[in-house]
Amino acid sequence: MAFKPANKLEDLQQFGEFGGINPSISDSTTYTFLTAKSMQDTFEGKTEGCYLYSRHTSPSNLNLSEALAAMEGTETAQVFASGMAAISSTLLQLCNAGDHILSSRTIYGGTYAFLKHFSPKFKIETTFVDITALDRVEAAITPNTKVLYCECVSNPLLEVANIEGLARLAKKYNLKLVVDNTFSPLSMSPALLGADVVLHSLTKFINGSSDTVGGVVCSSEDFINQLKDINSGASMLLGATMDSMRAASILKNIRTLHIRMQQHSKNAMYLAEKLEANGLKTVYPGLSSHPEHKLYKSMMNTQYGFGGILTVDVGTHDKANALMELMQTNNIGYLAVSLGFYKTLFSAPGSSTSSEIPEAEQKEMGLSQGIIRFSIGLDADIERTYRIMHDCMVQLEILK
Ligand SMILES: *Cc1c(COP(=O)(O)O)cnc(C)c1O
Repeated sequence: MAFKPANKLEDLQQFGEFGGINPSISDSTTYTFLTAKSMQDTFEGKTEGCYLYSRHTSPSNLNLSEALAAMEGTETAQVFASGMAAISSTLLQLCNAGDHILSSRTIYGGTYAFLKHFSPKFKIETTFVDITALDRVEAAITPNTKVLYCECVSNPLLEVANIEGLARLAKKYNLKLVVDNTFSPLSMSPALLGADVVLHSLTKFINGSSDTVGGVVCSSEDFINQLKDINSGASMLLGATMDSMRAASILKNIRTLHIRMQQHSKNAMYLAEKLEANGLKTVYPGLSSHPEHKLYKSMMNTQYGFGGILTVDVGTHDKANALMELMQTNNIGYLAVSLGFYKTLFSAPGSSTSSEIPEAEQKEMGLSQGIIRFSIGLDADIERTYRIMHDCMVQLEILK
């Protein structure tokens, strides 16, 4: 692929007001107009580049949006106060009462809860499908379907979506393909594979320091303008706006994303191979045993690897809990939800981040109670980390 997302980020030149090498932080909610006429024009959406009110956008938010659009190869983007704000605003913008969404059944728990319990209040119904079976996806499309929704790499089962195949279906049936790329920034560029809208929770890898909640929608000028429309835009009217201070801090963190993703991926690959070689049921898209390994390879920007998330099934819920506690005691990482931190984070998705999904459905989709999800950290010495992890597993008789 000729497109290099990290180059696109590095090639941006965004200067501060006094020639500072970092853009100035916009510390204002409102902006003066030199003439009354230009204020009126701006409210009517006519004056390109004029700022109105910071819920609409701000210079700092535009800088961050521009960087994320460059990374994803979309025309533009809009940042939000959280990943869920980006997701819910997008879906409420695209769908009216009576419309239907076709979603992967293995998605982030919050997104699942939104589609299952919240959007039906507005008569927006969702069918959940196995996104890896394109024929089943096609069979589930109805005349009311407006949106195909998936994650590039799904949470927490790490199923990989065939973005090009889904984009072909979206085109054929005139649907919008909306892809959550939170698990695989830089590694995947779904917009270039045909997705109409690419979403991220910035809270995870992109910000990378687990100190900020944020989200982004990357898409066409046309769709982002719809979101920002002062009369009918979900971003403007639901009002989940990112704060300018946060936008500025996330922008600074993005500059090291390419190095962090490479290290997350390198460490995750090392651990996945070791754990699998020890006979543990390990799921990681970089392993050739992963059902969509070849598919991931065919879509990825190779230099960033297969990402930082892997899962291991240690059999039972009790074993999973005991192992996580012991690993935390041994400082392998933290028993915490979320991902993309410098430290390894681990949690048992069945009883935490995916607990919104009823147990029977969890079972059907293959989410066993013994699964631990790891977000592998930036450890400089992953061999040492593995040795300690191995000792913990031997102590709990998970490994011999
Ligand atoms: C965390 C997460 C979200 C939600 O993002 P927030 O910033 O917590 O609102 C959405 N999708 C995925 C895949 C996530 O991991």
